[in-house]
Parts: sequence; structure tokens; C-alpha cells
Amino acid sequence: VWAVGIHGGAGPLRGSQLDRQQADLDATLAWAEAELRRGGAALDVVEGAVCRMEDSGAFVAGRGARPNTEGQYELDASICDGRTRRCGAVAALSGVYPPITIARAVMERTKHVLLAGDGARRFALANGFTAIGEPERFFAPGATPPGVTHGTVGAVALDQSGAIAAATSTGGTTGKLPGRVGDSPIVGAGSWADDRIGVSCTGQGEFFIRTAAAHNVAVQARDPDALLPPVLDRVLAEIAALGGEGGILAVGAGGRIAYAFNTEAMRVAVADSQGRREALIARR
Ligand code: ASP
Repeated sequence: VWAVGIHGGAGPLRGSQLDRQQADLDATLAWAEAELRRGGAALDVVEGAVCRMEDSGAFVAGRGARPNTEGQYELDASICDGRTRRCGAVAALSGVYPPITIARAVMERTKHVLLAGDGARRFALANGFTAIGEPERFFAPGATPPGVTHGTVGAVALDQSGAIAAATSTGGTTGKLPGRVGDSPIVGAGSWADDRIGVSCTGQGEFFIRTAAAHNVAVQARDPDALLPPVLDRVLAEIAALGGEGGILAVGAGGRIAYAFNTEAMRVAVADSQGRREALIARR
């Protein structure tokens, strides 16, 4: 049994390059399915899927990130390995790429979970990651039009050995202040994985932090396969009650994938070993 879910953010449809987003979701899903089918590890699959979505430039993450109010590009990402409960994250990362792989390096090459700002950049440079010379050229200018407010990417996977992993990466929200960090690099808010469930969130990060959304899903989903959809709805209702919006993608240990959102649309792709396969811009 294996299952994978990938998302490209929940938010408005306006200003999005829907055809490109759909094509890139589909291609990323095809890659992830093939990896899981041949016995690939959940951790490698979520990292690889998020890396492809970062490179796409059609989502507000990785190369599609938008600058903050002072024109700088600050990116957030996290990755969680459910089996070992190890995780790694970077926050307000600038000048170096790719965020999700750097987050994994924090997990594997340091005793820390989260590195932020200049320290994260220096860690990445010291570990051989790509320095970004000219951000205005690197961050696909115009790929995500100014109207787009947010659009994280993320992935959850269950592999054939039963391991679960989750990863999330974002350029944050439009008009964010320098140093603003959202939910995406916060384990328990934007991402979560343990031996029962993997979760990746997208939306107005402040609300996902205030509700500890990803961990909230994990705690409420004691029997993840039976309860996933109602649990996602409950956590989203809590977010909505505070005035927030977004979407949640989760996979349970039995191979069930679920997603829910309270925005106009969510870009999402899912597949499993039972033959389910969808890559779509889901609308309400
Ligand atoms: N959650 C992200 C953040 O607040 C944005 C998004 O998901 O669109 O940084």
C-alpha cells in the first residue's frame, strides 16, 4: 500500500496560471507515483515533489515566491519524517536555494530543527547549496502575478514500508513584513508527520499557527482512515471562526488521502495504490 498527495496552495483562482499549475501538478504526481510504486521512501518522495513544485515558478513557493514589503525574497520550508519523528526547517531564508532540501539538510546534518534568517543562509552556503546571485532574475518574475496573495506547495506520502512523511514550502503571503514567518516552517502548524498521519497545510499562516493546525489534525485523527475528512473540516472550521482561510492535505497510515479547503480553490493532486488518481484545481 502506498499513497501520495501534493498541493499547490489554497486561495483565489484570480491571477493564477491555471494551465501551468495543472500541468506541473500532474507531472509532479506522475513522478511521485512512479517513485512510490518502485518502493521509494516517503521522505524522498515528499522532498522531491516539493522541490519540483518549488522549481515550477507557477506557485507562490520556490522560484514563484514574491518579495516582501522591502523587495526581499524570504522563504520558509519544513520537512517531517514520521517514522523517526525527525524534522528540519528553514525560516526567512534568502540568497540560497532550494528551501525544502536545505530544510532536510538541517534535519540530517545538525542537531537542530529550525534555522532562520542569516544563520540558515550561512548553513546552506557552507553545505554547498546554490547561492542566488540576482534574486530579481532567479525568482521567475511575473510568473505569479501581484494579485496572488498566497500559494504554498506541499506533499504527504505513505510508502510501501508504512513510513509517512510530510513537507511544505512557501514564499509566504503578499505584503508580508521583513522577517515575517508563517506556518509552513513551523512543525505542528504547517507540517506534521508521525507513524499514523502526515499533514501539510496552506493558507493564512497566522491562523494555522494560532490553531496548531497540522498537529491539531493529528491529535483529532486517532483513527486517521475513518476520520480524516471530518477532522480536516473541524480544524478548518476553527480557523474560519478566527477569520482565517486555507486548505489541509493529509494521508493516514492505511493509505487514505484527504484534503479540505475553505478558499475559492485548492490546487491538489492525489494518487494511491488502489488506483485513485486526480490532479486538479479543486473549486468550491
Ligand atoms: N501558509 C503560507 C504562509 O502563511 C501561505 C500559503 O499557504 O499560501 O506563509
